[in-house]
Amino acid sequence: MKTLGHFINNRRVDGAGTRRLPVYDPAIGAQAAEVAVATPAEIESAIASARAAFPAWAATPPLRRARVMFKFKELIERHKDELARLITSEHGKVLSDAGGEVTRGMEVVEFACGIPDLLKGEYSRNVGTNVDSYTIRAPLGVVAGITPFNFPAMVPLWMFPVAIACGNCFILKVSEKVPSTALRLAELLAEAGLPEGVFNVVNGDRAVVDALLTDPRIAAISFVGSTPVAEHIFTTASAHGKRVQALGGAKNHLVVMPDADLDQAVDALVGAAYGSAGERCMAISVAVAVGDIADPLIEQLAKRARALKIGPGTDSEAEMGPLVSREHKARVESYIEAGIAERAKLVVDGRGLKLQGHEGGYFVGPTLFDHVRPGMKIHREEIFGPVLSVVRETSFDTAVRIINEHEFGNGTSIFTRDGDAARSFADAIEVGMVGINVPIPVPMAFHSFGGWKRSIFGDHGVHGREGVHFYTKLKTMTSRWPTGIRAGAEFAMPTMR
Ligand code: NAD
Repeated sequence: MKTLGHFINNRRVDGAGTRRLPVYDPAIGAQAAEVAVATPAEIESAIASARAAFPAWAATPPLRRARVMFKFKELIERHKDELARLITSEHGKVLSDAGGEVTRGMEVVEFACGIPDLLKGEYSRNVGTNVDSYTIRAPLGVVAGITPFNFPAMVPLWMFPVAIACGNCFILKVSEKVPSTALRLAELLAEAGLPEGVFNVVNGDRAVVDALLTDPRIAAISFVGSTPVAEHIFTTASAHGKRVQALGGAKNHLVVMPDADLDQAVDALVGAAYGSAGERCMAISVAVAVGDIADPLIEQLAKRARALKIGPGTDSEAEMGPLVSREHKARVESYIEAGIAERAKLVVDGRGLKLQGHEGGYFVGPTLFDHVRPGMKIHREEIFGPVLSVVRETSFDTAVRIINEHEFGNGTSIFTRDGDAARSFADAIEVGMVGINVPIPVPMAFHSFGGWKRSIFGDHGVHGREGVHFYTKLKTMTSRWPTGIRAGAEFAMPTMR
């Protein structure tokens, strides 16, 4: 059995500890490897190596740090297929989707290549007579990132390229379900010329996270995962004096107005609800059908959901792969049962799906509920599976209200041909990322990603300028240069004036 360890000081390190966690291939439902849980000594070694690397890395000119990023981007591009295969082998998503994730992550590296410009400060001349003032953005020191299972490459890449380009050293703790991709990215960073200790990966679970949250040598924590854990991370790390950005769960609604292009809305919903088996924080899990469009919408969605091709992620024909684990499959199925118990109408049932040759795989087929009402468990909670709920509303205002009253505020979208409805929606909606005739409004790397309400804890989104601001602190200098040498050389013995 292959054992995955850690990456410290630009080298792979075998895990020395006895605690090991299983890593599964979700398409067949069998253990494929095990991952070592970092011991206190290994965590110490990662922190110490990052601390030792920090002064020289922080003093390295941003242009040279950017050159490492340029090389890293080139290596990611060259190894894109290999990275996608690693993602699929542990996560289960189809290869084309895994490749897309690598590209979206790489775009943050491209953004980080512009760090000399992004770090430019401000300068004011003569803030007082002969007094000038300027600001610089200084790195924080050693920072850490904790990431979820659903984007083994993209979410870590939201964080560390920006942090490192700003001059910080980084310790990454990825989800124990998908440890391989980050280890490979770490090797590519070393190959790109990153000095030892600037980027380290420690694997493991909660025990490793708690050590990072409380260590006084770590200046900031970036977290992406579920809301209860995000809240725990935020309160614990803040109480230990750290800067924190903690992105949590979601329940994203897509409003279909009566004038929407039905085909476009259906295409959008099928991809956004069932892509990556619904295991995306920007997945659309609720369609809000306004007015008469509900009946044809349900009819089209049901037809498309039944026709989706389900298979292992490596099958080039497959449009949707398995869920990540046996436990998660059981959890998604229990939500389907809860929906039935609460009298939502189950139109397409994805339970009980068996694929020949993959009988042990963690597959749940596309599932569609109609007549879901706010307050039902399947509307309140994040399912994180291929389950789409349709809520029928009679007006734009009530559609907006159910979204605004939801505890999550990550992403949302409206499909309409009416510019005024779209504009009013953008103004009124209390959600961080909004799409207009766009199903999954994930901002590009040079904008910032982040939700509102209980989808985020902390003040900064990730990547874009928000990322640069999160990973740097301002220093403002005020300087005055009294007249000196310019007055001319003095030959008399200096005396006090
Ligand atoms: P998770 O919260 O279970 O785990 C995330 C990370 O936290 C993992 O590295 C895990 O090891 C660690 N962890 C788990 N429990 C912990 C605990 N009690 N204390 C300390 N650390 C702990 O999330 P997941 O199941 O891996 O990922 C799915 C969740 O992530 C979904 O809720 C999804 O919406 C969310 N997500 C959000 C975004 C976003 O940008 N808002 C993006 C991707 C995923």
